[in-house]
Amino acid sequence: MKRRNFFKGLFGAYAAISGYFSVKYFSEKDKKPKFEYKLNNRCDDDTIGKLDKKIIGLIGYPIVYNCNLNCARCDHFAPIAKPYQVPFEVIKKDFKQLSKIINKEGELKVLWIIGGEPLLHENLPEVLKAAREYFPKTKIELTTNGFLIDKQEDIFWETCSNNNIKIIIENYIYNEKNIDFNKICEKLKKFHCDLKVNGPKYQFKPMDLTKEISHDAQNRYKSCFPKLWPILDNGKFYSCSVINGVDKFFNKEFPSHAIPVYSEDVLDIYKIKSIDELIAFYEKPKAFCAHCNYFISQGKKWAPSKKELSEWYKV
Ligand code: SF4
Repeated sequence: MKRRNFFKGLFGAYAAISGYFSVKYFSEKDKKPKFEYKLNNRCDDDTIGKLDKKIIGLIGYPIVYNCNLNCARCDHFAPIAKPYQVPFEVIKKDFKQLSKIINKEGELKVLWIIGGEPLLHENLPEVLKAAREYFPKTKIELTTNGFLIDKQEDIFWETCSNNNIKIIIENYIYNEKNIDFNKICEKLKKFHCDLKVNGPKYQFKPMDLTKEISHDAQNRYKSCFPKLWPILDNGKFYSCSVINGVDKFFNKEFPSHAIPVYSEDVLDIYKIKSIDELIAFYEKPKAFCAHCNYFISQGKKWAPSKKELSEWYKV
C-alpha cells in the first residue's frame, strides 16, 4: 500500500510539476484530441476484448450547466445556460440506473464528470463518491477549466484520492496567472491525487448550426467526430453535447432560430433495460445531424462569449 502511495505520489508530483511548467512547453502537437474512446459493442482493446464484454467507451455527465469561464462557441452552451446544479439526488438516481443497464453484462470504461464547470457543484464530493460506488471498475475523470481548483478544500482532494478520480484541467486559455500551481502541488503531494493539465485549447470549432437541412443525416453522423463524447444528462442520453445543448439552451435563447430535436434523437435511460438498447440507440444516425456542421470548419481562436447567435449558428 505504502509502495502504491509512493508511486501515486510520484505521479501526482510529476503531473503537478508538468502542469506548472506546461505553459512553456505547449506547442502545436499538444492540440491533438485527448479522448479517443469509442462507443463499441465489442471492445477492441485486447485485454478487455478477451473478457468478451460489451463496452461503452465514455459517457460525459454534466453536473452543472453554467460556467465561471465564458468561452465563445462553447460546445456545452454554458454562456447561455442559466445557473443550475443538477441536484445530487438526480445524479445519484441516474448513476444507479446507468449502472443497472451497463453493469449487468457490460462495462463503462470512462465516466467523465463535466459541466459547465463541475467545481461549482456544492455536493461535489458526494457526487464523486456516488460515481465510484456505482461504477467500481470505471475510470472516473473530472474535467474542469481549473480556475477554482486551487481553492478546493481538503475534502475535495481526499475524495478524489480515496475514490481514484482523475482530475483533468482543460487549459482553455493561458491560466498560469489565475491558478496557483504551487498550492496544487502541495495538495497533490499530501493527498496523492492523479491530475493532468491538458494543452491550451487555442481553438474552438464552430458548430455553424442551421435551421434548414444542410447534410444527409446518415452520412454526417457516420463521419462525426464529437459523437465520441456522448452525454447523459438528467436521465436523457444524447449522442453528443450539441444535441443536448440545443435542446436545453440554444432553442430557448434563440427561439426564432430553433433547430428541431426529434424524439428519436434522445434516449430516456429509464425506458431501457439493457446495454444493447443503449448501443443500438447510439449507433443509429440522428436526424438532428442534418443541421450540424460541428468540426467541419476551421477552428477559431479562443474569445470571450458575447452570447451571440453567430457563436453557434451559421449566419
Ligand atoms: S449533432 Fe453534430 S456533433 Fe452531434 S453527432 Fe450529429 S453531427 Fe456529430
